[in-house]
Parts: sequence; C-alpha cells; structure tokens
Amino acid sequence: MNQNPIKPVRVRFAPSPTGRTHLGSGRTALYNYLLAHQTGGQFILRIEDTDQKRYNPESEQELIDSLHWLGIQWDEGPDVGGPHAPYHQSQRKEIYLEHATRLVEMGHAYYCFCTAERLARVRQVQQKQKIPTRYDGTCRRLPPSESAQRVKDGESHVIRFKTPYEGSITVRDRLRGEITVENENIDDYIIVKSDGLALYHLAAMVDDHLMDISHVIRGSEWLPTFPLHAHIIRAFGWQEPDWIHLSIFLKPSGKGKMSKRDSSQLMKDGFSIYLTDLKSLGYLPEGVLNWTALMGWSYDDHTEFFTLADMVEKFSIDRLNPSPAAINFSKLDHFNGLHIRNLAIPDLANRLQPFFQAAGYEAEDEKLVQVTPLIQPRIVTLEDGPEMGGFFFEDEVNPKPEELVGKNMTPAESAEAAQQAFEILSKLTQINQETAEDPMRALAEKLGLKAGQLFGILRSAVTGRTISPPLFETMAVIGKETVLARIHQAVETLNKMEG
Ligand code: GLU
Repeated sequence: MNQNPIKPVRVRFAPSPTGRTHLGSGRTALYNYLLAHQTGGQFILRIEDTDQKRYNPESEQELIDSLHWLGIQWDEGPDVGGPHAPYHQSQRKEIYLEHATRLVEMGHAYYCFCTAERLARVRQVQQKQKIPTRYDGTCRRLPPSESAQRVKDGESHVIRFKTPYEGSITVRDRLRGEITVENENIDDYIIVKSDGLALYHLAAMVDDHLMDISHVIRGSEWLPTFPLHAHIIRAFGWQEPDWIHLSIFLKPSGKGKMSKRDSSQLMKDGFSIYLTDLKSLGYLPEGVLNWTALMGWSYDDHTEFFTLADMVEKFSIDRLNPSPAAINFSKLDHFNGLHIRNLAIPDLANRLQPFFQAAGYEAEDEKLVQVTPLIQPRIVTLEDGPEMGGFFFEDEVNPKPEELVGKNMTPAESAEAAQQAFEILSKLTQINQETAEDPMRALAEKLGLKAGQLFGILRSAVTGRTISPPLFETMAVIGKETVLARIHQAVETLNKMEG
C-alpha cells in the first residue's frame, strides 16, 4: 500500500494521563499515526507518568479507550509491549538517573542543594529588581568534588541542566523554521527532582533517543522549552529528531484557549472537547477524526471528506498549519453527517442500536435495519436516531388531537379525508411508496386539498409526529395493519372533536 518514497519514520504519542482526553490529544495521536502508516514506520505509545502526584490511572484507561474508539492503534506501547519496553516512564527511573549522572560528569548538569525557602527568597529579590526570575547559579559554582561529597553524604538535592550563559541556540521547527534564542533567557531547569524522578525535559529526550524516534510531533505548549530540549540532546551528542509543534486550539469564539468552565457550558449545548463525551453524544469516530484532522492540516483548498485510510495516503507534514485553530462545532456536525451517510446500512444500524436502547426502545435488529435507511439522510448524530425513528418501535403513537387536524381544515373535514384514505389504503395488498403515493395524491385532488394537507393528517395519525421520514416509506416499515388501525383511531379522535 505504501508507495511513498519517504523513509519509514518512528514517531510517538506521549501523553501524561492527568485528566480527560481531549481533541488536542486525539489530533496529536492522529497525525503521528498517519505519518507512521504512510511511511510504513512505527507508532509508539509512551505514557509520561513521571509526575506521580498528578498521574491518574483512570485517565490512562480513558486515554486508551478513546484512542481505540478513534481506531488509532499503536505498534509499541504499554499494553502491546515492544523492543523498548517499559513504555511507562515511571518504570524507567534508573535510565533517566543514569543519563542525568552522565550529564553531570560531562559538565552539562550539576547538583543543586538550594532549599525551597532560599529559592523563594531569590525569586522575591529578582521580582523586586524587575529582572527575569531564574535560578541564580549558586550551586552551579560549587566545586564538583564538594557537590559529589554532599550527595554522598545524603544531602537532599535536585539535578539542574547547565545552560550556557553566553551565546544563543538555533533550533528548527518544521512548520515555523529556525528559532534563535539567547542562552541567557534559558533557565537552569531542574531535570531530576529530589525524589530521584526525572522531569519531562530529560525523560522525554532520553526516551526519544533510546526509542529511536525520528520525528517529534507534539503540542506547541512545548515551544518555550524547545531550546532547552535541543540543548539537552546536543549535550549528549545525539542527533535531533525532526521537530513539529502543532497549532493550538482556541475557543469557538477564537478568543483564548478553552477553560474548564467553557467545557461545561459546551456540554449543555450538546458538544464537548472530550473524546468519550463525543462518543456518548453520538458522534462517529470517523466524523471526529475528519473534523480534528482538518483543524491544522489540509490536503488542498477544497477536499474535505476523508476517511482514516484517505488521510494515511494524503497526509503531509508540509501542509500542517501552525496558526491557532478555533474549534468549530457546527463543522463537527457537518462532518458527522457526512460520515453517517457514508456508512453501510448494517454498520449504521449496529451503531444506532445502543442509542435506541438507551432511549428505551427494544429495537430488534431486523426492524432497525429497515428503519436505518429512512433516518440515515436526516440525522446528524447517532443520538438523533431514536428521536427521529423511535416511533417505529412504539406500539402506540398517541398523536395530539389538534395535530390530527389538517392545515386550514376543520376536524370534520380532516376526519372525512382520513376516512377516505383509510378506505383506499385498505384495498392495497401492501402500503408503500409505489402503491400508495399516487392514490393519495389523487384523493387530495378529489377533495380539493393540497397533498401536504392530507399527508399532514396521515403523518400525525401514523407516526404521532409532525416531522418524520418520508410518509409512504415510513408506512411500509410500520406495516399495513398497524397503519390502518392508527388511521382508524385518528378518525375516531377527530370525530369526537368539536366542529
Ligand atoms: N507528556 C507530554 C504532554 O502530555 C508530551 C509532550 C511530547 O509529546 O513530547 O504534553
């Protein structure tokens, strides 16, 4: 399948499971997956759980479920294993410590014994002087033999990266080109905490190297520390991966990033930025993937419908757009509708089944397969399914009497029209579009009615609703006997009405 001349890549999605899995993570995972599949390379899932205080096992499960739901599978990872296991960073503590020690030995990092109180005082003074707040270098100046002795004596310490004081560093992002930063603006970041656990800055660089990662596709929240990361890699003398920092997502208004409050408001409107919510709101993974893929990537200026397989074929890094993208939920509805209509009937029926059940309908498979083509063109989400087609599974429809009255008609006229329809329909062997539509149009004409007036009466009588899938196709699924019983019932109701 892969005729792409590009060398197989090794890419990774490296989430920190500390909260719920949102669109941004889904998109990062997707782009990594696409590049791996397009080039015949590998996609790795690495769990960055070094921050044990914030790590949440439920988040990890939700993450895995969300990716499975999207249909994004990985070649190496915690559950599937691989040549670079373990894939949980919390299980790789010694590897990072060993590398941090090497940096210290090479003179690129140092032990720091400063207490939190001392660091707070330094920060206060710097703030007062209105100079950038950063580590003041006290422990950087300690003779290495003294530091080593203090570590040996068991004094509490962290390890800091020794960023050069002078000069500048130039890094290259595939979407933004070269970025040059003065080293004096880069702090001596902590790379190993006092509990011996490495921080992201070190752990991710070490893992990317050891796991032979060729392209790092990650969120642009890492742009500020990108130069530090390059410093770390260069200090080891390793080759840097290709760096790609993706665009950020903005609120639908385009003003600022999404907050927690924005999310709960969204949920009230039937939307969410969380993948498991989108699943329960009835969005298809295909719709969500198509929608998120295009928030930051385009194939050309007009193609908008993509399946995962299409995207594997057509994705390219060079068409990623680094500009922030406002989340547009009406587009999600649009894409979801397109993908709903793209599904084969049995597949769509299967996916609708749990939504019918949740709405209280025992939607048996055979009938649901008949109903599905009628609602397929009319629903935006799977959740709309029972709303649009639930009445097919109801024994009684109970229309409101006033809704049985035709437009600009009296109840008596409506009863008469319904009765005549009853008589004509009862003579048909089967009621469906072909057998019933023409006779019903002819009847309307004979009665001096518009077709819509008669059809409105029949629709309310047979479905209990004023909006439904096409009337005669609906009647076909409901069946002659029930259709006639309901029209008969409607005639009786109309006859009891005044006027
Ligand atoms: N653990 C980091 C995060 O969740 C990963 C960033 C990266 O891909 O390197 O933001």
